[in-house]
Amino acid sequence: MSGFRFDRLFIGGEWVAPLDGGVRPSIDPSTGAPWGDVAFGGVRDIDRAVAAARDAFEGPWRRMPPWERAALLRRFADLYATQVDALAEVETRDNGRAIRESRGDISLHAQYYHWFASLADKLGGRTIPMDNSVHAFTTRHPVGVVGAITPWNVPMMAAAWKLGPALAAGCTVVLKPAEQTPASSLALARLFEEAGFPPGVVNVVPGDGPVAGAALVAHPDVAKISFTGEGATAKTILKAGADTLTRCTFELGGKAPHIIFADADIENAINAATGSAWALCGQSCALGSRVLVERSVYDRVVDAFKERAGQVRVGMPLDPATHMGPQAHQQQLDKTLSYVAIGKAEGAELVSGGQRIGGGDLAAGYFVEPTVFASVSAGMRIAQEEIFGPVAAIIPFEGEEEAVAIANSTPYGLAAGLWSGDTGRAHRVAARIEAGMVWVNTYRYIRWSTPYGGVKASGWGRENGIEGLDPFLETKTTIVSTTGQFPNPFQS
Ligand code: ADP
Repeated sequence: MSGFRFDRLFIGGEWVAPLDGGVRPSIDPSTGAPWGDVAFGGVRDIDRAVAAARDAFEGPWRRMPPWERAALLRRFADLYATQVDALAEVETRDNGRAIRESRGDISLHAQYYHWFASLADKLGGRTIPMDNSVHAFTTRHPVGVVGAITPWNVPMMAAAWKLGPALAAGCTVVLKPAEQTPASSLALARLFEEAGFPPGVVNVVPGDGPVAGAALVAHPDVAKISFTGEGATAKTILKAGADTLTRCTFELGGKAPHIIFADADIENAINAATGSAWALCGQSCALGSRVLVERSVYDRVVDAFKERAGQVRVGMPLDPATHMGPQAHQQQLDKTLSYVAIGKAEGAELVSGGQRIGGGDLAAGYFVEPTVFASVSAGMRIAQEEIFGPVAAIIPFEGEEEAVAIANSTPYGLAAGLWSGDTGRAHRVAARIEAGMVWVNTYRYIRWSTPYGGVKASGWGRENGIEGLDPFLETKTTIVSTTGQFPNPFQS
């Protein structure tokens, strides 16, 4: 399908020019140069998007039987599947993610939408055992208009995780993508239009977080915010949504421990740990950015990281041979390099990388070398704070107790991985790790059916799985008398 356009907002089924914002260049991080013009909305644009979503919610969407809603979502999912290459290219141009990764990720999303579509007409309640005088039962209802606020690292994935369940539940949506990577969400809008969704069910308004994002959060007609981004932003959102008691779910950062015990299959563990350290150029909250390695195999793992760092093909992200593209924007590049300096100053051993790549056709882009720090201790800032760059911090430990203590020593609790050949140990340690998701002898296996989300500073609520629908639904309890008798309370 052709016809993606990025210079208009998608509101109420129409492609409209921004009232408040304007059209801005979107930067390709592999060149530092603009690659397209994207519409940015402001407060009045958010107002009209919410109004359109509210009208759609009260009108056609609410009246539509859930199996018809499911059919529309399936039609959209099928269209999405035909557009994987096109969407991947848009995403890669915007955020620099290697095209092989974008395609791999985006090729899974149709199944997310299908899976949620399959649940749309099965959102029944339950009957509640009572005495014979009443019949009590629950029904489930969409919360209303949802504000979906997504981050720049995985715009299409975040949209699938939010829009799939929101639409299946019967909500309508205003999607506000991150300012650095807005284009793919407008491509998505085109697919919703093509699939025949009623106007206003899905609206897409790129815009600045503190302007368009803030307006969405504070809008009294927005029932719920589904947010993925930074913890500091989540706190701002929570405060801004307080006056309207807006429901929030937050998928925030992580500093996932990837624990390798000496009794593990070390080769596979190294494959997973190195792959995870540098995937998305380090820009994902579930990556195993802290590699905890049992002391007796520590040197072996550090040597393997060093060797693998030399094998990573850093290059232009649209080249299918490229393993790792640039950082998604200048600020992130600066942040990563500043953490390299912090790690060195803290006394960690820089084993590999650590530099911006300055030569040849990569010079103008935000490329950085795959980086490895060894001799990292758990309290160092590079082991505590989310860097979001391709920086592995390898921390030695001795035995299970210390592994668990280090794993749980950060404010975060999104994901964790552990490698061990001892099943009992795997279960013991998995049970004690403070994280919303633990992988054993694998890493980053995530699907539509597996709940995902954090504990501690990593967030509130779950996305995906049956649980992923809960934040978009309210439960109503209905109690019906079987007798109709109601005694006069003032008779005696
Ligand atoms: P990052 O620092 O990784 O860019 P952010 O949390 O700033 O993460 O951004 C995630 C999303 O939150 C983006 O879509 C951004 O525009 C949005 N955002 C930023 N500030 C606000 C805000 N005050 N209110 C609502 N959304 C915001």
